[in-house]
Amino acid sequence: MGLLALGTALDWPDAQKRAQQVREWGIKQLLEIWNKAKYKERDAMLWGDEVEYLVVRYSNEAPKVLLSLRQADILKALAADEELATKGGGVPDLQVVKPQGSNPLPVFHPEFGRFMLEATPGKPWGIGFKELLDVESDMKTRRRIAKEHMESEEYPITLTTFPRLGVPGVFTDPYYPPSGPKLRSQFVPDEIANPHIRFPTLAANIRWRRGRKVQVNVPVFHDVNTPNPWKDPTVNYDLHNWPEDDDVRNGAAPDNFIHMDGMVFGMGSCCLQITFQAKNITEGRKMYDQLSPLGPIMLALTAATPIYKGFLADTDVRWNQISRAVDDRTAEELGEKVSTVLDNITKTPSANEHQPLKESRWRIPKSRYASNSTYISTDPRLRPEYFDPNLVIDESIKAQLLEGGMDDLLATHFAHLFIRDPIVIFNEDLEELDLTKADHFENLQSTNWQHMRFKPPPAGSDIGWRVEFRPMEIQITDFENAAFSVFMVLITRAILSFDLNFYIPIVKVDENMETAHARDAVLEKKFYFRKNPFPNRTPRSTVGSNANSPIASRPATPVSPVEDEYALMTVDEVINGSKSEEHDFPGLIPIVESYLDSVNVDVQTRCELSTYLDLIRKRASGELWTAAKWIRHFVASHPTYKRDSVVDDEITKGLVSAVIDIGEREQAGRGWKGLNVPELARLLGQFRGGCGSNGVKRSSDEIN
Ligand code: GLU
Ligand code: MG
Repeated sequence: MGLLALGTALDWPDAQKRAQQVREWGIKQLLEIWNKAKYKERDAMLWGDEVEYLVVRYSNEAPKVLLSLRQADILKALAADEELATKGGGVPDLQVVKPQGSNPLPVFHPEFGRFMLEATPGKPWGIGFKELLDVESDMKTRRRIAKEHMESEEYPITLTTFPRLGVPGVFTDPYYPPSGPKLRSQFVPDEIANPHIRFPTLAANIRWRRGRKVQVNVPVFHDVNTPNPWKDPTVNYDLHNWPEDDDVRNGAAPDNFIHMDGMVFGMGSCCLQITFQAKNITEGRKMYDQLSPLGPIMLALTAATPIYKGFLADTDVRWNQISRAVDDRTAEELGEKVSTVLDNITKTPSANEHQPLKESRWRIPKSRYASNSTYISTDPRLRPEYFDPNLVIDESIKAQLLEGGMDDLLATHFAHLFIRDPIVIFNEDLEELDLTKADHFENLQSTNWQHMRFKPPPAGSDIGWRVEFRPMEIQITDFENAAFSVFMVLITRAILSFDLNFYIPIVKVDENMETAHARDAVLEKKFYFRKNPFPNRTPRSTVGSNANSPIASRPATPVSPVEDEYALMTVDEVINGSKSEEHDFPGLIPIVESYLDSVNVDVQTRCELSTYLDLIRKRASGELWTAAKWIRHFVASHPTYKRDSVVDDEITKGLVSAVIDIGEREQAGRGWKGLNVPELARLLGQFRGGCGSNGVKRSSDEIN
């Protein structure tokens, strides 16, 4: 989740004093990169995936499954492995030139939680279709290697969150008591975070800047025996270790919400991210815009997060919890606080929105981790009406970028990211500005966790312009993770090849992101989506234009209202196509299929690819379940579940045991048949049979 630098990390009051300097230096570094790389051409179409894992300690005998906090030891063991060192080839985010003909082993990275690991392929994936078929086995290799460097009772698993994180009592190995100076959480110890100074400082300074702890409140799922109103029974109102212990006495833990109070409740979640390298900046900007409306759809399709802190939640995905877990906005930025001397603790949400600001520069509508707020493509189909009318930008930063030669759209994008303060600043980095580096730029860039990230070429490298797709939840199996990766690659190729147009207003993407949180949104909800994705070029207009749009001043040509361009569709309609009175949407899978028809793919490869596409298709239609649905079903049918929303140690142990079982079958290539939990078939599909050498699909029954 970002670069690891070493040095003396400043506490928030000191960091705040240097924030402007970091922003200014960051902008200078960005302009340096921009001027060097803006005409960079013909970069290879590479891509990479990132898989994040939880490390659990599990044995049949032990009554509980625990999170193992041995991340550092496991990484040390991986680093000491000579084979990995000599055959491993990469560092994160495609930062290696593809070694020709070699097949480097995967690379492992730390993540925020001390119980997490991240793994990437040893080299970026290339353009070949056959290579898409290597992704799944590479993911399996990563899991195998990770496991080989763990203790026998430790397992890397790909659940998004650990169901019992933050429950009173023991949930980690080793045990540490909660409530340390950095997180000040009443539920988790500081030792829950990666001990590298960057991570606890990030957590502490977010809290410090905000003026209270983060509030990660997720609605509880009301089952038949769940009290209504429900009060989170794990909240301690009588703690007096830190001033922040007052938060819950001041209303931080409302009824009917599972209350969490530390960065780890968000950043301790696992996701699947895909980074694409574009052939040039224009293509990168186009990918950024066109993939953005797919974010909420893919979030709903990959939903895997129905449990928090030992309770069933009423939402299915991790997104908003991470958003809140790193929300460093002050009360005033949130529009909550009247900053008068007499009344500087009044917190009436939104009531004071129109009060003049006393301490902050802006009211800021979104957290640093949120759906993205800009479109940046030079595509003539980008209409002013699509832009976010609430976009906040730093005008002086925008002016510097324009002055430095950047165009309005991109300058607006970065002037928006740079409204934030840098959270972790190392004293040593402030001595001298090094324009051959990108550290100050990255400081802001990599702590703007939006659902898309536009990545300029790292200073002094061969790498091109890249775009990262960030919303997807990690899936339980490598088969699924490979399927979603392959699908994202193919839809991106189709977008470029057919010049597809998925533009809808950014506010509608925001709304879709909220919609994706609902239980079973994949089947139950509708999302705004563009009706006609094909490239009939719409002239720009200023119909209903908004003043914030960087292209608002383009000449007006009357065209159809933007509202006519999109409609509400189910995920099934978006993925598989629809024929309703109102719209006739072709469907993303049929689009991918016609893209595959238009290129040269051999029968065998095509058959193998369709195994992945089938998973996406069937998940969208409801024939297969999301992990969230399967986990809910697992909990509901467990003998100790009392229909009171409580997910106890025994249920958690059963769930993790099933997940380990699936992983071991997958490693052994044993297929899914006869799994100890029959409903797993609903998650993974019985069809997972593979293709014969003649490219003909075989059913799982034939090969299990
Ligand atoms: N784990 C975070 C998530 O689930 C992402 C961290 C990163 O950017 O690597 O979205
Ligand atoms: Mg990561």
